[in-house]
Amino acid sequence: MTESHKLHAETLVVSQGRPAHEHDAPVNTPIYMTSTFRGAKTVDTLNDKVYARFHNPSWDDLEEVIASLEEAELPGLTFASGMAAVAAVEDLVPVGSAILIPRHTYMASISLAQKLERRGVCEVIRYDLDDTEGTLAAMEAAASARSLSGENIDYRAPKVLMWIESPTNPMLEIADLTVLLPAAQKLGIVTAVDNTFSTPLVQKPLNLGADIVVHSATKFIAGHSDVVMGLAVTNNPVLRAAMLEHRTVNGAIAGPFEAFLALRGVRTLALRVQRSMANAQELAERLQEHPMVREVRYPGLPADPFHKRAVAQMDGFGAVLCVVLDADAAGTDAMVNQLQLWTPATSLGGVESLIERRRRHLAEPDSIPESLLRLSVGIENVEDLYRDLDQAMRSVPKASKDSIG
Ligand SMILES: *Cc1c(COP(=O)(O)O)cnc(C)c1O
Repeated sequence: MTESHKLHAETLVVSQGRPAHEHDAPVNTPIYMTSTFRGAKTVDTLNDKVYARFHNPSWDDLEEVIASLEEAELPGLTFASGMAAVAAVEDLVPVGSAILIPRHTYMASISLAQKLERRGVCEVIRYDLDDTEGTLAAMEAAASARSLSGENIDYRAPKVLMWIESPTNPMLEIADLTVLLPAAQKLGIVTAVDNTFSTPLVQKPLNLGADIVVHSATKFIAGHSDVVMGLAVTNNPVLRAAMLEHRTVNGAIAGPFEAFLALRGVRTLALRVQRSMANAQELAERLQEHPMVREVRYPGLPADPFHKRAVAQMDGFGAVLCVVLDADAAGTDAMVNQLQLWTPATSLGGVESLIERRRRHLAEPDSIPESLLRLSVGIENVEDLYRDLDQAMRSVPKASKDSIG
């Protein structure tokens, strides 16, 4: 193969992260069930394994694959969960810092920032992804209050960290990454993008100027709803060292078996994501016309307010869509209980289709409609998926106009 031929993502998920191409080498990565490694000489923490909280070779191939998919030069980092990866980033900020975080974001990512704020570490500044001008003004204010400049950024302890989730959970708002990421670089703001909803097949934030990408590998990367795991990727050696130190001293490490399952899941990531996205697009189009549906949110619909942005910076529209039913909370719950095929459960990104009324979580903000359902579209036959939704929706009485939440 010539140097100039760049492998496609569908090939990388299959070919990368394999044991050495040597005679009699295993084709797949072994699971290293050991807590410690033999050694009697002075420890070289960069090259020696030493102890399995510092390093487990079961992680290496997954860390290689995620880096190749995100087009990073440095290997990724595996974590015990998506939140462990989020914590490795948010915990970098020093006293007197600010974390900018979208109004709608994965709840635990917000809670973690608020926990740091309660302990007096940082200020939490919420912004609206919708409003790029307002977001830029908030970034400028946070940077100038801390006399930041793009020249000398302290990556070990960033004074302003900008958290970005795009698309957001569960409203599927899309940030203008092509504007926000370069602006942050100029201002000396360190940026982290939660790429869980998009996967690296659909969006590559590092290429758009992000400093860090995090994933809940629990979702599309592992893909079978049988693993909880996280990943972080960066091209910045200082940031990587700081997150690695966090992982080691906090003990936020993935189990070797989980790493094996996640890597096994990655092998079919491209197939799964392509099929799930095609199903999601078809369902979004049909549900738009459904008499029980007041609103469909899916960036793949030309009428969606974020469609243009999605086309400009993404390679597809993801496999999560939201539907606001013409029903109240009880009617929406009743509809979910009528489903035969769809699984009522939180989480997303698995082969099986999941559905959830988001406001069943008491912490979900009340800007999310009571009858909003988040659908994580799996790889089943799309006719079967649609028919099940249709029969369940038709079983529910329409809400009277004033009871719609
Ligand atoms: C699930 C999720 C997380 C948290 O990941 P865990 O693996 O559950 O710890 C973070 N961000 C997003 C967008 C998620 O969907």
